[in-house]
Amino acid sequence: MNPITATRATLGEGAIWYGDTLYWVDITEKRVYIYDPKSNSERMIQLDSMVGTVVPRKQGGLAVALQTGFALLDPETGETTPIADPEADKPHTRFNDGKCDPKGRFWAGTMAIKEGPNQGALYMLDGKGNVSKKVDNVSISNGICWSLDARTMYYIDTPTYQVVAYDYDNETGDISNPRTVIEIDRSEGGPDGMTIDERGYLWIALWGGYSVVCHDPNTGKRHAKVDVPAANVTSCAFGGDDLSDLYITSARQGNSPEALEKQPHAGGLFRVNVGVRGVPAFAFEG
Ligand code: ZN
Repeated sequence: MNPITATRATLGEGAIWYGDTLYWVDITEKRVYIYDPKSNSERMIQLDSMVGTVVPRKQGGLAVALQTGFALLDPETGETTPIADPEADKPHTRFNDGKCDPKGRFWAGTMAIKEGPNQGALYMLDGKGNVSKKVDNVSISNGICWSLDARTMYYIDTPTYQVVAYDYDNETGDISNPRTVIEIDRSEGGPDGMTIDERGYLWIALWGGYSVVCHDPNTGKRHAKVDVPAANVTSCAFGGDDLSDLYITSARQGNSPEALEKQPHAGGLFRVNVGVRGVPAFAFEG
């Protein structure tokens, strides 16, 4: 598998398909990428803050989770408008991965920039600009998605090597009853970004694992493994006309110079048809 564009991200992340476009970010380089598969062209928006993830807005435009908090992003001008910064008092943390829930609230979590344990949290931003802290003592807040019936939320704090499921109230955004539904063997790498397919199976990028793996959260059982020619695989999203192309981001970061020499594709954006469809992503209501 070869990367589909020439970009090699330092820390690619946050892949999300919306309309006919793939959006993703390079956290470390403070960049948002907009990829159009029809023309195989990519546009880059340079920001001035680290950007953990990007989501579409229902009314058009984008929203982002920056080191400096949640913000709107005008993709035409590159201008950001701050919404709320729940960790304004913690300059040593930054936002990482996140996504919108079925109702259109923007969920994203934080982590210590230097990756210390339990410094982060998972937050929910509603359409009115209110932020609530939903999970505390998170180390590396990462993959998040919702079951097809919107009654379960799946969440990854990478150093736990687990996917945790919560009962989900889509009306209120309340989460309850956390339980581990998938465990990744440490030898396979750390679970990072995550998406869900039309069967309700989870596709999980493995940092340090050269792969994306597919598990049924109801049984924990693995159903597929996609090899990726980069050690640090960071996020994935279904896209394309029928949502059957799995887009995958990766990172150069986290490799020794020697390891990087053997990974010319590290940091690339990949695409593979895995023979199953995803489900449409949700946009931010704010
Ligand atoms: Zn991640």
